[in-house]
Amino acid sequence: MSAINSEEIISILKSEIENYEMEAKASETGTVIWVGDGIATVYGIDHAMYGEIVIFENGLKGMVQDIRRNEIGCILFGKDTEIGEGTKVNRTKKKAGIPVGEAFIGRVINALGAPIDGKGEIISKDYRPIEHEAPGIVDRKSVSVPLETGILSIDSMFPIGRGQRELIIGDRQTGKTSIATDAIINQKGKDVICIYTAIGQKASTVAKLVNTLEQHGAMEYSIVLSAAASESASLQYIAPYAATAMAEYFMYQGKDVLIIYDDLSKHAVAYRALSLLLERSPGREAYPGDVFYLHSRLLERSSRLSDEAGGGSITALPIIETQAGDVAAYIPTNVISITDGQIFLESDLFFSGMRPAVNVGLSVSRVGGAAQTKAMKKASGSIRIDLAQYREMEVFTQFSSDLDDATKAQLQYGKGLMELLKQPLCNPLSMAQQVITLCAATHKKMMDVPVERMKEFQMQMLEYIQSVHPEIIREIEETKDLNDAVTEKILAAADEFKGRFQ
Ligand code: ATP
Ligand code: MG
Repeated sequence: MSAINSEEIISILKSEIENYEMEAKASETGTVIWVGDGIATVYGIDHAMYGEIVIFENGLKGMVQDIRRNEIGCILFGKDTEIGEGTKVNRTKKKAGIPVGEAFIGRVINALGAPIDGKGEIISKDYRPIEHEAPGIVDRKSVSVPLETGILSIDSMFPIGRGQRELIIGDRQTGKTSIATDAIINQKGKDVICIYTAIGQKASTVAKLVNTLEQHGAMEYSIVLSAAASESASLQYIAPYAATAMAEYFMYQGKDVLIIYDDLSKHAVAYRALSLLLERSPGREAYPGDVFYLHSRLLERSSRLSDEAGGGSITALPIIETQAGDVAAYIPTNVISITDGQIFLESDLFFSGMRPAVNVGLSVSRVGGAAQTKAMKKASGSIRIDLAQYREMEVFTQFSSDLDDATKAQLQYGKGLMELLKQPLCNPLSMAQQVITLCAATHKKMMDVPVERMKEFQMQMLEYIQSVHPEIIREIEETKDLNDAVTEKILAAADEFKGRFQ
């Protein structure tokens, strides 16, 4: 047996090490080994990053979503019938992104930024990654400027500030989308860019919404991004991130943006479908373990930047659909815990004619109070408590016939307040109009108006004050405050009008 020559082995190893070449090719190419359901498994790409875009031979794009030992899983942004086993795939080393810019305002686009409104190509100069880190704490400023929705029940009791995230939650057909569209319509002339993101909705529903916005001149400052129900789960999954990238473009220029995600329940469902296809293990309600991160990393990007960081803001109104009012289901509890409050819409209220169907007891706005104008704060005063008392008393007195006068008066007052909070669609009220309404109501100026004529009284009174006492409105708008003198003027004007009304 010949002895092992250690000298020789060492020299071979040394030369091996010296001649070892790092295999870092400029472009890596792989091969599709499995494709189906909008997912492709690719072999041979070793250094792909999570979220990187890969391009297939025929030009189809995909995004790396799953990195395993010898293969990667990609979601496809197109038809999976166009590729098959053996199709070559190239890395791009780029993260998924979307073209952004002013040219998109007034347009309807898909999740990849391509126009779908038939109004021609959109020329854009800029490009942003769809996934982006949220601004850090140092770059943020607290919420202090109101974002008025024009909806009396929201602006008075659950005010929203620029940079806030307020969830709109409720069963199907309870007016969730309507609140969002009314909020967009109310931004006219307020220097806010609105982005409406439709996820998993019927294309006809989106077309109707675009039509409504156009009729009210709201498309002039809005962008609609739609990943319809007929489109792939991959596009529905990236839609809200792409829309947020668009919003960030404006925010970092110091502009204020209002973004609506309609709705995140469907977004979670699309992500669940993708995750199951990628063979991730299912957890509660079959959602993957990272479904909380799915929405937290999205909503965390809404913020109000400090002046040094540019001073812009993104206000988010995510929408969640519940099943039979169950707010304790997985996705609703997640998103409730991420947002700064919720507007809870209730089917019972909706069907009883209370529209918008805001449940006063279950709704809350955690930071918006800081942004409410002094005038609104003073005018809305105790109406939340008044309404809570009214609802309680209503239940108690349902079956009793002989009520004392004080109770009767309180019931009458509560009923009147509820009536005032009803608001037809696309009919936003300005801050001054809301303040005048509340001021007159809380000072019991409308007690003797029959409930069924309450709305009529309100609208005519506002018109009367607008034409006869415009200085009241001007003063509220200018000072954004409600001092005793103005209150007196409002009450006098209300009395004056009441004389004419009856
Ligand atoms: P979906 O679950 O289908 O998305 P949704 O909760 O978004 O429904 P909307 O589509 O906004 O509800 O509204 C449902 C219907 O109720 C619509 O026909 C709308 O016109 C009507 N509606 C909503 N709000 C009001 C309102 N304030 N006054 C009168 N009608 C309203
Ligand atoms: Mg809707």
